[in-house]
Amino acid sequence: MSELAGVPKPEELLKIDYQPPRKGWMDTPVNFKPGTYSYPAASKNHKILDLPFPREWSPTEEDWKLPENWKEIVLNGIAERLSKYRSFKVFMDICVRCGACADKCHFFLGSGDPKNMPVLRAELLRSIYRKEFTAAGKVLGKLAGARELTPAVIKEWFYYFYQCTECRRCSVFCPYGIDTAEITMIGRELLYLLGLGINWALEPAAKCFMTGNHLGIQPHTLKDTLDFFADDLEDITGVRVDIPINKKGADILFVTPSGDYFADPGTYTCMGYLALFHELGLNYTWSTYASEGGNFGLFTSHEMIKRLNAKIYAEAKRLGVKWILGGECGHMWRVIHQYMDTMNGPADFLEEPVSPITGTKFENAKATKMVHIMEFTADLIKHNKLKLDPSRNDKLKVTFHDSCNPARAMGIFEEPRYVIKNVCKHFYDMPENTIKEKTFCCAGGAGLGNDENMEMRLRGGLPRGNAVKYVQEKHKVNRLACMCAIDRATLVPLCDYWAPGVQVTGIHEMLANALVMKGEKERETDLRGEPLKEVEE
Ligand code: SF4
Ligand code: SF4
Repeated sequence: MSELAGVPKPEELLKIDYQPPRKGWMDTPVNFKPGTYSYPAASKNHKILDLPFPREWSPTEEDWKLPENWKEIVLNGIAERLSKYRSFKVFMDICVRCGACADKCHFFLGSGDPKNMPVLRAELLRSIYRKEFTAAGKVLGKLAGARELTPAVIKEWFYYFYQCTECRRCSVFCPYGIDTAEITMIGRELLYLLGLGINWALEPAAKCFMTGNHLGIQPHTLKDTLDFFADDLEDITGVRVDIPINKKGADILFVTPSGDYFADPGTYTCMGYLALFHELGLNYTWSTYASEGGNFGLFTSHEMIKRLNAKIYAEAKRLGVKWILGGECGHMWRVIHQYMDTMNGPADFLEEPVSPITGTKFENAKATKMVHIMEFTADLIKHNKLKLDPSRNDKLKVTFHDSCNPARAMGIFEEPRYVIKNVCKHFYDMPENTIKEKTFCCAGGAGLGNDENMEMRLRGGLPRGNAVKYVQEKHKVNRLACMCAIDRATLVPLCDYWAPGVQVTGIHEMLANALVMKGEKERETDLRGEPLKEVEE
């Protein structure tokens, strides 16, 4: 059955009511409408990760089976985080409620729910901070924007902190630099203290501990899958690629999200990596222990980010590689660039990354020792190290979705566009206020990319879908490229719904289509097994 089964038609979803409710926001209780929230985490996953209060519970039931001292746990949790994270304290204090962020969140734009305005999302937690941690809030109460912590507040947190994809678009527009994603992260941490998480975020984290990756793929299955890709590549190109796994002493450890070797269209991106590395004769290795680039800890807690990130570096040390190359992932890069060095770094046992092909030193990766594959490949093209035939992608009219994390956390805007323009001839950017640092989210990241939450995903996906539709109508765009595994999964239903006819692709899929490999036979199909040229009517 289609992922979109049961979702109202686009005409229905477009009837968005932006009128604020007649009652004030503090007096408007949360409504758990099917299709707009994520299911709770199974207790087995809490147990695997050693998280408190594992139990079965349901958001739609009145009693959430909270621990007896739940209030004390939450207030202690806030106090601990106020002393630990200076940014949290600052973000609680400095918002002037100017409203500049109000209409910048895709979930507000697609739902019209005022509590999806970033400023109000933060107020859900800030109002408790004021009541319990500020003199004005203690004395003036509601007049100072303060309110009591009640079970209804906890329910509201669960609903709205899991209607934020931690995309950070709002922070680009805040004159004070308030990062609502960080507030959401703290809100989720507090919920976890009470045993309240969502399964789509926690199960991948639990599986990562059990098997090395979010999808629970066992080592032998990973090997079989990669061999299967090698077979397909051989059929298409006539070239048999090598796939080194767990190779001690390799120069480079390659880590990519498991979505790349699990599901289409990520699998074609994965075939693209294999073709490229073979063509370069790269001395690299995959790992079955660090078989996941993504880090669902980012959607759970700071502690979980640290635990999952440490696995990659432990494996790099065990295998004795020089540095790490990371695949087309989104949130992996936010973790690497914004958290890794202070959490698990410095990774001084590794070398400062240098491309063995061009000699380029990646000085931006001096501390983390981890290079984004788009930087690596752009550098190869810049140094004329790849033979490319972009005409093989002639049937593609491509636009590019800047994934939130590489765009806003890394500022990596030009490299993907540079690679795309070198491997296909028809490229069209979406409107300026929907790309680069202002890019709109896929609305399915941060653990929200599950089927039960599909209506809210599509509502939140409206701004991105609208921009895709714009270039589809104006330039006949038929491919939406992205460099994030979550995007490659979540943009598929988004396009099917808001811009039908546009297919999603990774960039290394297009690169491998254009790559002229040594000894290859004349190609008849692309990596998807479809004819290279459009069949004439
Ligand atoms: S833009 Fe910043 S200061 Fe203004 S309301 Fe939003 S979070 Fe507060
Ligand atoms: S981080 Fe993204 S999803 Fe969250 S409030 Fe800001 S714009 Fe909305």
